[in-house]
Amino acid sequence: MDMLIGGKYISGDDLEEVKNPYNGEVIDTIPIAHLQTAQLAIDEANNAKSKLVEMSAFKVSNKLQNVVEKLKDKRQEFAELLTLEVGKPINESLVEIDRSIETLKLAAEEAKRIYGESVPLDAGLNGKGFFAFTQKLPLGVVAAITPFNYPLNLTIHKIAPAIACKNTVIVKPPTEAPLTVMKFCQLLDGEFPDGVVNTITGYGSEIGDYLVCSSDIDKISFTGSVTTGLMISQKAGMKKVTLELGGNDPLIVLNDANIDNAVKGVINGAFLNAGQVCMGVKRVIVQNGVADEFASKLVEETEKLVMGNPMDDKTNLGTLISQNAAIQVEQTVNDAIDKGAKVLTGAKRDGAFYHATVLDNVKMDMDLVSRETFGPIAPIIRVDSLDEAIEVANDTEYGLQAGVFTSDYKAAMRCVREIESGTVFVNKQSTFRTDNMPFGGFKNSGIGKEGIKYAVEEMTKTKLIGLNLR
Ligand code: NAP
Repeated sequence: MDMLIGGKYISGDDLEEVKNPYNGEVIDTIPIAHLQTAQLAIDEANNAKSKLVEMSAFKVSNKLQNVVEKLKDKRQEFAELLTLEVGKPINESLVEIDRSIETLKLAAEEAKRIYGESVPLDAGLNGKGFFAFTQKLPLGVVAAITPFNYPLNLTIHKIAPAIACKNTVIVKPPTEAPLTVMKFCQLLDGEFPDGVVNTITGYGSEIGDYLVCSSDIDKISFTGSVTTGLMISQKAGMKKVTLELGGNDPLIVLNDANIDNAVKGVINGAFLNAGQVCMGVKRVIVQNGVADEFASKLVEETEKLVMGNPMDDKTNLGTLISQNAAIQVEQTVNDAIDKGAKVLTGAKRDGAFYHATVLDNVKMDMDLVSRETFGPIAPIIRVDSLDEAIEVANDTEYGLQAGVFTSDYKAAMRCVREIESGTVFVNKQSTFRTDNMPFGGFKNSGIGKEGIKYAVEEMTKTKLIGLNLR
């Protein structure tokens, strides 16, 4: 598939194959762009700025709404492409497309709500006699650099608010799963002037780095790993940066919890998208009083999951993004087993598949839980008390989301107050997001928030206009 730059489709001399992780078949190729092509995309995005700013908010909103309708019409086609390139079950891909539609809709609505405010300068010393107000202005060019696991929805969480507040966009999709995003940008291109949306493909370490270092880009909106995020924050200079990074989310199960609901929370949270979810349940912290009952119910439910062809609508567990990714998970699990973790079910790899796995007796000094593991693993960490549960929950460099299952509202409120993460859910796993909520972690899980209204805030600059009426 060709890149879209300044309204033209551009290929390249060097091509990279995009493979289906389920059967290794080549789905398509993408260009590995040269830096000159990246500069061309930057120039085209800059040239298009005035064309977008001249459009009324009414028109921008309608155009985004048109894309909503186009994506709805192509829902099945997009879901199938997503499953082919990521290996996620088709039902999960359909959910990702539905959420993408929802995200776009929210942006179409938000385009009509980019308000400033009046500011009472007379509340300050010598401010009497002024009439002052603010305007929210676009930053200019936003570069969106995005990961493989929810490639479409996470990219739309950047493109849609950026356009809603009249920024032009350059998208650098993940090399392993770029196709759905590139195809989506073609839908946008039909609605907006040339250069408003551009795609550039190539390796992150070259093309992504070039965008990050460019002084002709006004904002980097990045979703991906902490390692890459840290590098970006060091190189981006004075441009604005939003970093949506990894997670190591805890799910706490206290003695008074509804065990069936907590088990459901882990099944939905640890195994969704084969565990490749930033806000996936990565640590299951269970109080000793219910740990045996909880573990046996969790194993029973885990063993019901159907692993297989991601295109089959009965499949619950697809492949990881690649065989290499599955090998990494295998090594991390084996290391935990060597250090004393007990396998209750799973802990096996077949090519790019990794079986849904429940481990007991996991300790926080194992790499499996001290770092982010991107695979379908539910590691049980047993604790004696609420104090210990909170201590373990916070014993990580990450702080994306968290969930606690309890029927004691005082215990729930302690978790809400004391767990250091961007979101704490009570009686719900961390793996839950609506596309309008402020989403973004504390600690090394990132900087800034997404969720359309919040992303718009981060993609605009505020100008104050003061009229001296004295
Ligand atoms: P990644 O390796 O950091 O890659 C993300 C994107 O950054 C890709 O497009 C990649 O390009 C590009 N990139 C790589 N090196 C770069 C550099 N030096 N400069 C600029 N861009 C560069 O992450 P991933 O493995 O795709 O995704 C998994 C990670 O994302 C996990 O840690 C997960 O938790 C996190 N994540 C976070 C959220 C959130 O909202 N907080 C959501 C989803 C995922 P190439 O593909 O060409 O390497």
